[in-house]
Amino acid sequence: MDVKVYDLMIIGAGPAGLTAAVYAKRAGLDTVVFEKLAPGGQIANTHLLENYPGFPEGISGADFAEALRKQAVRFGAEIVSDEIISCDLSKRPFTIKAFGGEYKGKTVIIAGGAVPRKLGIEGESDFLGQGISFCATCDGMFFKGMDVAVIGGGDTAIGDAIYLSNLCRTVYVIHRRDELRAGKLIAEQARAKDNIVFLLSKVPEKFFGGFDFEGIVLRDVKTGKTEELAVQGCFEAVGNIPDTAYLEGIELDSNGYIAAGEDTRTSIEGVFAAGDIRTKSLRQVVTAAADGAVAATEAYEFIEKTKKC
Ligand code: NAP
Repeated sequence: MDVKVYDLMIIGAGPAGLTAAVYAKRAGLDTVVFEKLAPGGQIANTHLLENYPGFPEGISGADFAEALRKQAVRFGAEIVSDEIISCDLSKRPFTIKAFGGEYKGKTVIIAGGAVPRKLGIEGESDFLGQGISFCATCDGMFFKGMDVAVIGGGDTAIGDAIYLSNLCRTVYVIHRRDELRAGKLIAEQARAKDNIVFLLSKVPEKFFGGFDFEGIVLRDVKTGKTEELAVQGCFEAVGNIPDTAYLEGIELDSNGYIAAGEDTRTSIEGVFAAGDIRTKSLRQVVTAAADGAVAATEAYEFIEKTKKC
């Protein structure tokens, strides 16, 4: 049986992928979007999105993700919930293999975003999902009234700490430097909270516990001294790494992101990269959405151009 050839296959249903789907469908492209988790990408786990234009009071990440999904579906985008195993980008039509089947398309937009970076320290794998989490919005409620730690000093870590401070007894923010990376406004909001305690210039060395997770061994980077911090939960927010493991033959930059400029074109003709997965200076929802619009327009123009050849 002949496999259907889509005009466009989009990998990832975050802000970049779903914006691309809206633009592609409105341009008349037969479009399929693949997502292994719930639509929305990382933003679905953000409790409050305050810097996306058009929402003066902010919007919850979950509501925003759902609105993105609905908008793409309204224009007829097909969303497939499946995990991609491999991509053959060596010849057109391109082939994507997912657990549920094989798909072909004239163009591909890679908008798979990034996955949370792990600390890679002793005890981490023992307590993942059993005390250690990457998502405060998803798991915060399990630690109601307890003492927890957040590792990291960026916007995610500080946003998580504020969110958790409304649920937990004490939230320790553990950051490896004296200065936070997070924006000034959000950092001031966190400092104003009585139950957020900053443990600066400290790094986690080891997670410990018995049957249950019990705490973290911290090392002071200035003095070298170690101490134990007793907490019942720990949220890691130390950034993300691009999710490119299933891709072959595409040029990456020295940090592992897909090498693509503002036009989203990659080293392979007909393949575009949008959002956090590509080389860029500002990884935000607004820049991911903009990438999606550009990538879909590029895909449309590529199809038109190759029709004439
Ligand atoms: P990030 O900005 O890369 O921050 C990661 C943090 O983890 C940094 O403070 C970093 O320390 C620390 N870190 C990294 N590796 C570490 C290690 N091995 N051990 C200890 N600490 C480590 O990541 P993010 O906070 O997830 O933010 C990612 C992007 O999303 C940013 O552009 C951010 O502005 C954006 N974002 C926006 C919003 C929003 O607008 N609502 C919310 C969340 C995120 P150093 O500071 O020392 O490097």
